[in-house]
Amino acid sequence: MSSFIDLIKTCGELKEDVSIKSLTSFRIGGVAKYVVYPNDLEGLKEILLIISEHNIPYKVWGMGSNILASDDYYSGIIIKLDKLLNKFEINDNSVVVGAGVSLIALAYKTCLLGYSGFEYATGIPGSVGGALYMNAGAYKHDTYEILKRVLVLKNGELVWLNKNEIQFSYRHTSFSDHKNWIILEAKFNLVKGSVSDIEKIVNDRKERRMKSQPLNLPSAGSVFRNPDSISAWQIIDEVGLRGKKIGGAMISDIHSNFIVNIDNAKAQDVLDLIELAKLLVKERTNIDLIPEIELFNWSSK
Ligand SMILES: Cc1cc2nc3c(=O)[nH]c(=O)nc-3n(C[C@H](O)[C@H](O)[C@H](O)COP(=O)(O)OP(=O)(O)OC[C@H]3O[C@@H](n4cnc5c(N)ncnc54)[C@H](O)[C@@H]3O)c2cc1C
Repeated sequence: MSSFIDLIKTCGELKEDVSIKSLTSFRIGGVAKYVVYPNDLEGLKEILLIISEHNIPYKVWGMGSNILASDDYYSGIIIKLDKLLNKFEINDNSVVVGAGVSLIALAYKTCLLGYSGFEYATGIPGSVGGALYMNAGAYKHDTYEILKRVLVLKNGELVWLNKNEIQFSYRHTSFSDHKNWIILEAKFNLVKGSVSDIEKIVNDRKERRMKSQPLNLPSAGSVFRNPDSISAWQIIDEVGLRGKKIGGAMISDIHSNFIVNIDNAKAQDVLDLIELAKLLVKERTNIDLIPEIELFNWSSK
């Protein structure tokens, strides 16, 4: 009888003992027992069946740009969709795009073709699936603003969900209540505009980001959601944590809502900084900071 691993190998490319550091923008994390790149949709469905029959934990992964993975060994399977769902097609002022496509690549390509809609996304280094999962956004625009519908693999069935069937708010969607749903594809509305106007917006924002974000160091972008009344970076600054270091991690001295990996940081170094910021901010302002980044493979969390 074939082992479940032999079966999975017939459905996709399987890698064993993969460093999670190589899968996250933080460059932090332990080792994953398996990472699989499904060959095709049938392969993905089959893999999900096999791992369900064998009760193996799994995690769908985009670009790992919003994840703080623990340094522990992960004995499950990480499913990467970027080789399978990596195409997009523009038609009649809309684009249909695979969940594994890079949001930055999509944003630049549509903008350079003179389509307005994704200008907000040219600095968000995630996948379309990851952006839909957490409603990524910037400059007061977000992913759901231009969304029409999403194709989801839900308990083995393909289902198109219209935008009004998904709950979404600032950096949150109802996909986080359905961890076994896999986002496969989405359709977004675009508006035809002038390439030079769109390019100007994109270039201005790029310049702002280059000045205001520590893009030379590994991070996962903003660590906390902005509370209603004030920016998270501002309160973290006010409690004196700009530049604070723990182990190999530091609250960025350029942007206080970024934690950067300055010297082979342990996941715990980052978590300790997160806890410290939450504690000081709560003590001094009574505001509860809510993390925007997601913890993965923490046994005690
Ligand atoms: C330098 C930098 C700047 C950033 N700037 C911004 C910003 O301006 N605005 C912003 O919102 N974010 C920002 N981020 C954070 C991050 O890029 C976004 O949250 C992004 O949307 C995460 O996408 P991802 O593909 O990396 O998802 P991952 O980090 O890989 O995964 C995040 C979650 O999405 C789930 N997921 C991913 N793909 C799928 C799928 N196909 N189906 C179901 N679930 C899925 C995962 O299981 C996980 O739970 C920044 C990060 C960095 C490093």
